[in-house]
Amino acid sequence: MGMRYVRFLHPARKTPCFGSLTSDDSIAVLTGPPWLAGEVTDETLPLQQVTLLAPVEPSKIICIGLNYQEHVKHSQSADEAPKYPLTFMKPPTSIIGPDEKIIHPREAERVDYEAELGVVISSRCRHVPENDAHRYVFGLTCVNDVTARDLQKKDGQWTRAKGFDTFCPVGPWIVTGIDYSDIGVEGILNGKVMQSGRTSQMIFPIPKLIAYITSFTTLLPGDIISTGTPSGISPMNPGDTIEIKVENVGSLTNTVATPE
Ligand code: MG
Repeated sequence: MGMRYVRFLHPARKTPCFGSLTSDDSIAVLTGPPWLAGEVTDETLPLQQVTLLAPVEPSKIICIGLNYQEHVKHSQSADEAPKYPLTFMKPPTSIIGPDEKIIHPREAERVDYEAELGVVISSRCRHVPENDAHRYVFGLTCVNDVTARDLQKKDGQWTRAKGFDTFCPVGPWIVTGIDYSDIGVEGILNGKVMQSGRTSQMIFPIPKLIAYITSFTTLLPGDIISTGTPSGISPMNPGDTIEIKVENVGSLTNTVATPE
């Protein structure tokens, strides 16, 4: 097992800090983001004293649509698997951390969870060959690609349906050194397993995604690729609890609430 990196707020500090978990209940404080050479200091904090934030502040979140065959079958947005990766973006301002509330917007009728593996990029890259892609993976995290399904259909474009504030829960940490070729990805609604896929079922595996994405854009350190969701999506309603669980990575839990 590699390292688990967190971003957190501590009552005695004004700004968010990065850290690495030294055990299940202790954090070693880092001098900065680990993908920008942040180093471990001598200072440690009990995990229970901090509020975990989303572990990363990306310049962009590139998402992949329809990347699991079973999901394509049940999807209303396509009849067959895409010939090349279908990409879209969520704005960084849609990110929330573990235990934060997903706000169900008034203008949406149906808001779905989408359990996904998130890949965090280690360094600036463009035109990455598939064989080199692993060098640009800093680590893995859990992502919930929350989607206003009715607005996705209504708009045609996905920016609004996928981009509402709070529609991108990420966390609870980033894990390094994990083999991502065949790990489980689960969506668990109110304790019931609704989605259960494996990354080996992806139509376009991670190295292909990195090669494809960097054929048209530059990825920066800390950027996230959200790699698509397995079958079993369904709506969430205010009061629901949604957990995204990725094998060997962690479990990200959020609740759904109405706007204030
Ligand atoms: Mg998705």
